[in-house]
Amino acid sequence: MAGAHRNAYLSYKKLRLERVGAMIPGFQVIIVGAGILGLASAYHILQREPALELLVVDKKSGPGEGDTARSAAAFRDMFSSPVNRALSQGSIAFYDRIEGERGGIGLKKIGYLWLATARQAEERRAVLTSMARAGVRFKALEIRELSARLPDLRTVDLHQGILGLNCGILEPLKLIKFYEQEILRMGAQVRYRVEVSGFTLNSQALVSGIRTREAEISARTVIVAAGAWTGRLLAGVGIEVPITPRKRQLFSIPAREGPLHGLLTTSGFNEHSLLPFTILPGAAYLRPAPASFILGFANPDQPPGLEEPATGDRGFYDMSIRPQVERYFPVFQGQVPTQAWAGHYDDHLRDSTPFVEYLGGALVVAGSSGSGVMKADSLGRIAAGRLLGQESVPLGHGGWFKVADLGLQQRAVPPEEFVI
Ligand SMILES: Cc1cc2nc3c(=O)[nH]c(=O)nc-3n(C[C@H](O)[C@H](O)[C@H](O)COP(=O)(O)OP(=O)(O)OC[C@H]3O[C@@H](n4cnc5c(N)ncnc54)[C@H](O)[C@@H]3O)c2cc1C
Repeated sequence: MAGAHRNAYLSYKKLRLERVGAMIPGFQVIIVGAGILGLASAYHILQREPALELLVVDKKSGPGEGDTARSAAAFRDMFSSPVNRALSQGSIAFYDRIEGERGGIGLKKIGYLWLATARQAEERRAVLTSMARAGVRFKALEIRELSARLPDLRTVDLHQGILGLNCGILEPLKLIKFYEQEILRMGAQVRYRVEVSGFTLNSQALVSGIRTREAEISARTVIVAAGAWTGRLLAGVGIEVPITPRKRQLFSIPAREGPLHGLLTTSGFNEHSLLPFTILPGAAYLRPAPASFILGFANPDQPPGLEEPATGDRGFYDMSIRPQVERYFPVFQGQVPTQAWAGHYDDHLRDSTPFVEYLGGALVVAGSSGSGVMKADSLGRIAAGRLLGQESVPLGHGGWFKVADLGLQQRAVPPEEFVI
């Protein structure tokens, strides 16, 4: 079945041209969105079918300038759901290889440190046991050990720390540049400052191309990987997507010297002598960055909606992040953010896990729900598999993934119990 579908797909040679303004030839595949999901998808499609004529368009001026660049770009494989684990473990293994072979995506396995109260430790006990059985690598740190390693930590109501080991941070723009350079090398066309205003539909009312200010460009398949804008874009042609954008903010505090620098460069947790990516009991987090901390909090009460342009709001820091951080790390008292920025999660309303599905004829790769960077490589492979009619695809760690499991029709995604 899969082979027949693939041959039919590849034998599609006739490219149509519907000219509105400039002469633009049709493509076999057009990807809307040069974020991490769009470019990882392009990469894995061309890895399998290098001769395919593929165009990527983005309204911004370069790769990853949507939410990918605004991300904290932290990654973890500590998930209760085997699907989430496979998506992140596959991607992390691939990122490890790029870092090892080519260098330069800034990947640092600094670990994730969850600080937990006694109640949280109790609530997480069963899920941690099942993760340990599944081979997820982590260490439980009792409070005395935590205090010894982290003299700046005020233990207050803390009971335990959980240190995830196959977890860390990377530089998202370097990762996305890797995918961009590779697809250009394989012959893809990438066009920036091209905004898709709508879609052309065929006689069966299925998406058959994109519409921009200058032209209509037809394609055998249009892949929509437009992140937080996906829902609004497809709503224009009556296609409903089960995602909603939700604003998320990050704040940067310099740590070049003094006690904050000491905390940032805490040794004993990892080979980089950096504080792990640290999650407080109230879910605010501290992400080490060059000579600074990035602080964030995915507020569960944030109402859905796109804010454009999205900006960081100092009031949010003062109300929601600062009290949490100062409670456990008094060295932050009196420190103020010098930079703030914001973007959106594109939350998948069904189960907060991404999906890859045909909707109205377009292949939609979306719903990354705040974990798109850490899962992008696997999502790219699954999107390529779906396009080429493959039932299963190998992920970066060698495990196989059933493509339909991440669709919307025959979805097989258990609820995630280890959320931040
Ligand atoms: C504050 C914050 C912190 C985060 N932290 C993490 C983290 O630590 N780890 C993690 O894994 N993930 C994190 N994420 C989530 C991560 O950033 C996203 O999951 C990921 O970037 C989604 O990638 P994408 O390609 O779907 O979207 P994007 O990177 O937004 O790409 C979509 C692209 O589509 C383009 N586009 C949209 N509409 C159109 C149109 N009409 N025409 C042409 N182009 C269009 C946009 O310009 C954009 O470049 C965070 C997100 C935010 C906001």
